[in-house]
Amino acid sequence: MEKPRFSMRAFAAALEMYHVRPDDWERLCQQCGRCCFERAVTDEGDVVVNFAAPCEFLDLQTRLCSVYDDRFVQCARCRKLTPSTVFFAHHLPKECAYVQTFLNRSWRDDA
Ligand code: SF4
Ligand code: SF4
Repeated sequence: MEKPRFSMRAFAAALEMYHVRPDDWERLCQQCGRCCFERAVTDEGDVVVNFAAPCEFLDLQTRLCSVYDDRFVQCARCRKLTPSTVFFAHHLPKECAYVQTFLNRSWRDDA
């Protein structure tokens, strides 16, 4: 997988959306549930989702969280998705809408 290029412009856009338009940030999620399975990162930096190992709170039929409003209390491993986690944690699959929007799109700092 080609590694996304860090772009200050993309990071600034993510920060602006996260802080100023939080509803738009939330709406980006396509509720695919991929971030609710165990994942591993290969030496090449690819994120591999283990679909045999879902979070105990994931509804496998709908791919929705069954404790969404309380997820950070119910699940010790659940983490809030922020611009920092999208850009620096490197554990989101390439299909994730946040990765697609801010990392895989061709943003140019000099544009
Ligand atoms: S608790 Fe977190 S990781 Fe588990 S299903 Fe809900 S959102 Fe996904
Ligand atoms: S992988 Fe991304 S788009 Fe899919 S549910 Fe998780 S945050 Fe939303």
